[in-house]
Amino acid sequence: MNCGAELTGATCEVCGLTIPAAEFALRKKLLNRTAIFLLGAIAFMFATGRFPPLEIDGILIFIGVLFFLTLGLAMLVERRAIRHKEVEALKRIYYGLVPVPWLLGALLIANGALDHGPRVDWHARVVSRFTIVGPLPSRRLVVDSWRIGHHFERVPVNRDDYDRFHPGDLVVVKVGDGLLSIPWVAGIDRD
Ligand SMILES: [Zn+2]
Repeated sequence: MNCGAELTGATCEVCGLTIPAAEFALRKKLLNRTAIFLLGAIAFMFATGRFPPLEIDGILIFIGVLFFLTLGLAMLVERRAIRHKEVEALKRIYYGLVPVPWLLGALLIANGALDHGPRVDWHARVVSRFTIVGPLPSRRLVVDSWRIGHHFERVPVNRDDYDRFHPGDLVVVKVGDGLLSIPWVAGIDRD
């Protein structure tokens, strides 16, 4: 449970821990990694607020599913450890998932901050707007889409822009291609 070696006796031959000591060490490690994972999720949310991708809702759904799968996996590893079952493989998968929100957040920041290409102005009309409540509230202006095959765009905006625009307003949405080809919203203005 602690070092990953096969247990042959009452104490581990590699790290020297007894079963209760190894269980304690594992649970402490799980807790620390979970804290790193949760901080990463918050950092990711800040990244989406700073350099919001145009397809932010799809990305948030993906991250949400990943978030609960990862936390579920941590709980499963802990339960199995309490019952002294094999945890090594699941533990490794869990440890592999912990940095994912940090990496995705860094990707989104790089995608926007290092994108020095031109911004494209898209003219659109605000159809409606909504707020997603939560620990970090998220706001969208729903506008007519400029893309073929799309009816609407749910443009992520900050609080000021959210308060400034109302249904019926004509706006210009500035979109960057993104360093990693993830289109992102660089700003919004009155047309
Ligand atoms: Zn050991």
